[in-house]
Amino acid sequence: MVNPNNVTERLFRSPSKYVQGPYAIQNAAKYLTPLGKAPLLICDDVVWGIAGKDLVSALEKAAFKVHRAVFGGEATREEVDRISTLARDAASDFVIALGGGKTIDTAKTVAATLGLQVAVLPTTASTDAPCSAIAVLYRPEGVYDCYRLFDSNPAIVLVDTTVVARAPPRFLAAGMGDALATNVEARACRTSTNCAGGLQTEACRAVCERCEEVLFRYGRQAYEANKAGVVTPALEAVVEANTLLSGLGFESGGVAAAHAIHNGMTAIEELHGLLHGEKVAFGTVCQLVLDGVPASELDGYIDFLLSVDLPVTFELLGIPNVKDEELRRVAELACAEGETVWAMDRVINVDIVLGAMKGADAAGRDYMRRKGWKRD
Ligand SMILES: [Zn+2]
Repeated sequence: MVNPNNVTERLFRSPSKYVQGPYAIQNAAKYLTPLGKAPLLICDDVVWGIAGKDLVSALEKAAFKVHRAVFGGEATREEVDRISTLARDAASDFVIALGGGKTIDTAKTVAATLGLQVAVLPTTASTDAPCSAIAVLYRPEGVYDCYRLFDSNPAIVLVDTTVVARAPPRFLAAGMGDALATNVEARACRTSTNCAGGLQTEACRAVCERCEEVLFRYGRQAYEANKAGVVTPALEAVVEANTLLSGLGFESGGVAAAHAIHNGMTAIEELHGLLHGEKVAFGTVCQLVLDGVPASELDGYIDFLLSVDLPVTFELLGIPNVKDEELRRVAELACAEGETVWAMDRVINVDIVLGAMKGADAAGRDYMRRKGWKRD
């Protein structure tokens, strides 16, 4: 499972261009010009009010002919078909995604279906999905359907940090939970093939390490800046860590137990209100426990997660009385065939994963007790 085909090539992939800064949307025409002149813009009604109108007026000033598709809210095959038809009818020559993860994944799939390039403009820094050549599709009722792997990454990822700074801070924190997993998971699957099917490069390892360093250095400060709705150097650094560093890092580094446990956790009804990165945050503590890191090192990660209000115990996840059989179900799903937990070069089974989850909760409770930590 670790490297079933004995791949010997190192492989690193990335979007062709990454742009980030305050009011970047106002300069979008400059960066999107090489892609075409008649884009199909995919965004929902909420995002339209926040950033869509500004983007369209900036593009129209530069003579782009923008056609808008209102995103319906779920990244499904049906939605991809519907929007692909709109793009064909409008003779669109490239696709723009403006919004969150589901909008972005739909747009990537539409672009791949039509053989067009895609520009990704995330309006939050809540996941590391924007830079990757991967999309997750759901069924209309919201249940996971499938992964899609594309031949190319987005042509451009453009992040307007003024827009991100005005989004609820919970999104930025969730993005940090997702980004904190990047180095921890890449370290845990050094010998396996990454999401792109190759071995890790030195470049990828450097990116993963830098991602973690930026979070520890600026995470809390950026979270506070986000609460104040302002762009600061710390916020810029963390937006880049969440979006670019984590995006490059997970795709070319690989994912392991933290994400497998996240996937298992989606089976617990009470956790449906949590964001991806919030569940991954707890999964990361599980990963560290599974890796057997020293207590002092584990403390550092728990302290960071708590500092940006991310959950490190069952109670903080909102499941204080979770039953053993529910946790076993999570562990079973995390150990399903094809899951990323098998990327790890060590003995794994359901009991070991279950033990890591309970060990993570115990370590989190112990840390909070020792430090007299109270949530405000
Ligand atoms: Zn993730």
